Amino acid sequence: MRVLIEVPSGRVLRLLAGEWYPSPDVPADRDALISTVAVGKSSYGGLVLVHGHECNHRAPDCDRTHCWDALVLVTAIRDNMAGYR
Ligand SMILES: [Zn+2]
Repeated sequence: MRVLIEVPSGRVLRLLAGEWYPSPDVPADRDALISTVAVGKSSYGGLVLVHGHECNHRAPDCDRTHCWDALVLVTAIRDNMAGYR
């Protein structure tokens, strides 16, 4: 399923435990603050692949294109973009 969700590069997403999956079928047990690099254009079961930085969400400093990727609930991203976080 195609999702149209525009997340600017550098946008910080606050993701709560249970809203992102470090491995498929394994929900995270902690919150995360991520500086977005890219968000996938297709969702699977309400989840979308996100690449980002967790090293330093204000000013990524790991010298990699991204150091974090996970499947994230589309609804959590929408909440962030709507300013609910
Ligand atoms: Zn990083």
